[in-house]
Amino acid sequence: MLLIGSHVGFKKDTQLLGSLNEALSYNANTFMFYTGAPQNTMRYKINSDLTNSALKVMEEKNIDYSKVIVHAPYIINLGNADNIEKYQFAINFLKSEIDRCEELGIKNLVLHPGSHVGCGIEEGIKNISNGLNKILGHTNVTILLETMAGKGSEVGSKLEEIKQIIDQVEDKEHIGVCLDTCHLSDAGYDIVNFDKFLEDFDSLIGLEKIKCVHVNDSKNEKSSHKDRHENIGFGHIGFPTLINIIYNKKLENVPKILETPYVDKQFAPYKYEIAMIRNKAFDDKLLEKIRLQ
Ligand code: FE
Ligand code: FE
Ligand code: ZN
Repeated sequence: MLLIGSHVGFKKDTQLLGSLNEALSYNANTFMFYTGAPQNTMRYKINSDLTNSALKVMEEKNIDYSKVIVHAPYIINLGNADNIEKYQFAINFLKSEIDRCEELGIKNLVLHPGSHVGCGIEEGIKNISNGLNKILGHTNVTILLETMAGKGSEVGSKLEEIKQIIDQVEDKEHIGVCLDTCHLSDAGYDIVNFDKFLEDFDSLIGLEKIKCVHVNDSKNEKSSHKDRHENIGFGHIGFPTLINIIYNKKLENVPKILETPYVDKQFAPYKYEIAMIRNKAFDDKLLEKIRLQ
């Protein structure tokens, strides 16, 4: 069965139950959320009543909670340790994020590996794996390293870099990968030939490490290193390639998460994009329909 959803909000007063209800309103059967605003580290105390109510609804609706994803805020940077206080803050915050995941019963946490900010790629990789080694080892949560577009000094736009991080992580059982289609294309990977990409991924890292796929079109051409997401079918990757990835048999049990932009910055596209993906037919009038919702 296709596991499809989007990123959804997580609000102080409704928490997991609110996130779930938002996902259900899009006819999604999985979802991803940030435990607070993605761009800051302000976080609320988890309300277990709300968690338990959400778990009950998920059971009724047959939603596999073990596939639901949390995304760490993107300001956490493990890639540079020149400022030891900043580096330590990133490690501590990630630890607290793991604690929140455990409290919520979440199994998989997506993390942008980080940016080396001038210290060089090798040093960056070392900083990231050292940081991860301080966090993993005593948790059931798996950290999923997201493949990046290669903007600025981002680490992880090459699969070899992801592999090097994994190689240096001690607790191999709790490290995985999240593919992002926009990032892969922006990084220069040929995802038109997705079976070939998966073959290469399998021989380098191992397919079983892929626990999440972010499905996004891209505003820019292959190898642009820009990281600007576009609505499904309206960018340079295009609908047939994205459908081919979404329905790939080898990733059948992996949740597919949309992180496409709101239309006119105000209308959530997910209900419409999910319907279009289920129909497997591109609707070039989709954005107009979303504006009229
Ligand atoms: Fe991300
Ligand atoms: Fe992503
Ligand atoms: Zn992105």
